[in-house]
Amino acid sequence: MNAEILAVGTELLLGQIVNTNAQFIASELALLGIGVLFQGVVGDNRKRMEEAISIASNRSDILILTGGLGPTDDDLTREVIAQFFNKQLILEPDLLKQLESFFAGRGRQMPPNNRKQAMRIEGAQILANPRGTAPGQYLALPSKHVFLLPGPPSEMRPMFVESVIPILRSLFPNQTIQSRILRIVGIGESAMEEKVRDILDAQTNPTIAPYASEGECSLRITAKADTDARAWELITPVEQQLMERLSRYVYGRDTDTLPRVVGRELTQKGLTLAVAESCTGGLLGEYLTDAPGSSSFFIGGCITYSNEMKQQLLNVSSQTLKAYGAVSEQCATEMAIGLHNRTNADVCVSITGIAGPDGGTAEKPVGLVYICVYFNGQTYARELHLRGDRNQIRIRAAKQALQLLWRVITGTLETQS
Ligand code: ATP
Ligand code: MG
Repeated sequence: MNAEILAVGTELLLGQIVNTNAQFIASELALLGIGVLFQGVVGDNRKRMEEAISIASNRSDILILTGGLGPTDDDLTREVIAQFFNKQLILEPDLLKQLESFFAGRGRQMPPNNRKQAMRIEGAQILANPRGTAPGQYLALPSKHVFLLPGPPSEMRPMFVESVIPILRSLFPNQTIQSRILRIVGIGESAMEEKVRDILDAQTNPTIAPYASEGECSLRITAKADTDARAWELITPVEQQLMERLSRYVYGRDTDTLPRVVGRELTQKGLTLAVAESCTGGLLGEYLTDAPGSSSFFIGGCITYSNEMKQQLLNVSSQTLKAYGAVSEQCATEMAIGLHNRTNADVCVSITGIAGPDGGTAEKPVGLVYICVYFNGQTYARELHLRGDRNQIRIRAAKQALQLLWRVITGTLETQS
């Protein structure tokens, strides 16, 4: 079976909003092992919606629509689907009561327009929407499965997880799909693939898919089987094989992120962390505070953009700035030490560099960045030559600093290749 996603909304066509619903649904379907062969976007227009639905229902088994379930006149999805499949719209008294109490709970009277949200397509199953007014609908037709989901992601996503996934799973009762993701840093995607090429090529179940994202990559091992236990029996030996080759680069699994892994490590060891950032302007601090619970290790930081702030807050010496400049290993090192002296944090990370697009010279080009980690009376500094635009250089600098931090606190720096 394959699925097609059809996002409804003129705002999408005009580029006023990004179609994140399609991205979310596509990635969830991939996890379920359901192929998506087409995605579409259509405006709030009856005729063009019919056209899009007609094409999609001819070529796809599962049709997932988002948007256009609201109360206003341009919210047409329910009506158009009912008409296209020759179904009546039936007023559901229970839904009407729910809607009225949704409004009552907010101290308001239900506007008459919202009545149409209590209309169920004949033969369809209602998908609850506790976070909004538009319930979803699931219409099972002979060899066709149609889902109508609300547009707002805050309503659509939980509905997808709570209602749609269980239905899709029940369509394949004797099949489960499990996957394990290995999260990898410090090696590029192609170098990683080279190291495990033979393992990748040898597998059909589980399959292994490499992915690259900014500053890191991953391997997803996916097995199909009749039971969860059997799927894991397929995954585990392959995971072990991959780990034998790549363990040095694997920082985590599944939903782990490098900041979270670093945070866990620091918390376990009872260490505190502070950061001093120049060209990244607080980005490293943002990454580190992304996860709840970061206050158990992260105490704060300084954004020292100017030389004066580096001197005043971090005690970087004027000789260093004169002799080597602010973008230098010496400055990065003094920033980390200065931060430790100032805050007494166990671990201190500093970043200084040229993010561009201006400010580069032949000697110090755009993308030259120094990072340093202070820990246990030692400093570990690195010179980076980063590529990309300003934004990419900042992201990459912060991620490299995270990586160095991870290596230092896990004691895995010495053997770094
Ligand atoms: P409502 O009851 O809010 O009108 P609806 O089901 O009719 O819900 P739309 O009117 O199509 O949905 O969209 C409402 C809002 O949901 C949009 O303004 C937009 O913020 C968000 N939205 C809609 N479609 C998408 C999409 N494909 N991706 C991301 N956001 C979306
Ligand atoms: Mg709407």
